[in-house]
Amino acid sequence: IPVEQFDLIIFGGTGDLAKRKILPGLYRRFLSGQIPEGSRIIGAARSEHGVEEFRDIVRSAIAEHVAPDKHDDDAISGFLNSLEYVTIDALGTGGWKELAALMRPSVVRAFYFSVGPSLFGAIAERLKKYKVTDDESRIVVEKPFGHDLPTAKALNETLSRHFTEQQIYRIDHYLGKETVQNLMAVRFANMLFEPLWNARNIDHIQITVAETVGVGGRGEYYDKSGAIRDMVQNHLMQLLCLIAMEPPYAFDPDALRDEKLKVIRALEPVEPDDIVRGQYLGDDEGPSYLEDCGNPSSLTESYVALKVRVSNWRWKGAPFYLRTGKRMRARSSEIAIVFKDPPHSIFGDQAGQNPNVLVIRLQPNEGMNLTVTIKEPGPGGIRLIEVPLDMTFKEALGAEADDIPDAYERLIMDVIRGNQTLFMRGDEVEAAWAWTDPIIAQVEDRANRPKPYEPGSSGPEESLILMHRDGRRWREVK
Ligand code: NAD
Repeated sequence: IPVEQFDLIIFGGTGDLAKRKILPGLYRRFLSGQIPEGSRIIGAARSEHGVEEFRDIVRSAIAEHVAPDKHDDDAISGFLNSLEYVTIDALGTGGWKELAALMRPSVVRAFYFSVGPSLFGAIAERLKKYKVTDDESRIVVEKPFGHDLPTAKALNETLSRHFTEQQIYRIDHYLGKETVQNLMAVRFANMLFEPLWNARNIDHIQITVAETVGVGGRGEYYDKSGAIRDMVQNHLMQLLCLIAMEPPYAFDPDALRDEKLKVIRALEPVEPDDIVRGQYLGDDEGPSYLEDCGNPSSLTESYVALKVRVSNWRWKGAPFYLRTGKRMRARSSEIAIVFKDPPHSIFGDQAGQNPNVLVIRLQPNEGMNLTVTIKEPGPGGIRLIEVPLDMTFKEALGAEADDIPDAYERLIMDVIRGNQTLFMRGDEVEAAWAWTDPIIAQVEDRANRPKPYEPGSSGPEESLILMHRDGRRWREVK
């Protein structure tokens, strides 16, 4: 379904994120017919370019980041024709009047801040000062949203001086992932799962976001943040919220965000023994974290595992184990809901070896999988085996699965539609920092060195112990 005609202004339109995700995503939406004629995408960045140069940049970005079967010459030239470019200085005066002059009344205006976070405030201020925006305009703010609670609050204050909460779209691209939204459909559109969705029936939950890449050229920047700030405070927290929240009264932005906020507020402080941090070592394929970040005495973590308790009626007794890291064995993100054993076994000690596990896979092979125990076929006695009820989207939906929009393109279309459901609200981000800050402070106070781990492994040994001491174990990273 096409959206309304719009002008999307991308600050940082020549940057890495714009070239890899935003512009290729917009092209795919254009190809699918969702972007109406007359809509414009306006790159705005510091580099001096004419519009033709910007079109060349975008042409190359499409060639590199869009699957070849979607390279359609007519669509590409139509898309490139919708592009404009303005050289602008976010911290100065250059380009702002030109940008204001390009604006059209009665067309949806959205401003995507795909620049470093130090520029967010300056851009918001100038958009207002130079009258580039109107009351309906939307701003899209990239991560990181603050470095801690005081900086997040300051940023919220700056943005709210110029825009209302309804105009601010804080992106967490994990919320745009198809499976993440499907998690809500599975929970709230089926009778099967919700009655079991609590600590009486669920033993624990594992959330894993594993990457194979190191921090590479971004080492110096990454070293100021680390895995807790870069991944846990936002992405893993959002996943946890969607699993743990109560059913919202409607699929409505504030109804959903109210429920997520209640979960964040119910998180208990994390005990020192419930955190394991790590730093990857080097091997033939790449340098160690300490070399990558250029600081041999860095105490920043490239891996973290946490045991998190949600203190409410539903979850008391069923912990959430979270882990995320760089240079791990596989690029793999999943949520695993591990159910309890049946209360009594009529099959002797065979039962309980294979608990039911509902796995929601974010990547690769987006989809869901439920393991159930059945009898192994054959004439002998009853031998129990575990089989998967598999719902990989590619298999279930066939060719339709190829058209699943990437997280960014879906979220940008939501901005144009004015739908904030999958964006973080200001109070939610602050609550997440309020929980994360003491964890970071505790780690920094103790100044303990992150544990080294082998690249290509599933993290430091100590993270296995975090589970073993509770009689549980991590699922394999694969
Ligand atoms: P980048 O350094 O590749 O690009 C920055 C862009 O900002 C360039 O277009 C540059 O011209 C422009 N810019 C810089 N200073 C400017 C100024 N004073 N005035 C106007 N324009 C200016 O950065 P990136 O990797 O594309 O990241 C952009 C934002 O997105 C950051 O907030 C980052 O944290 C976030 N982000 C990036 C990724 C990613 O994969 N690259 C992923 C998630 C979030």
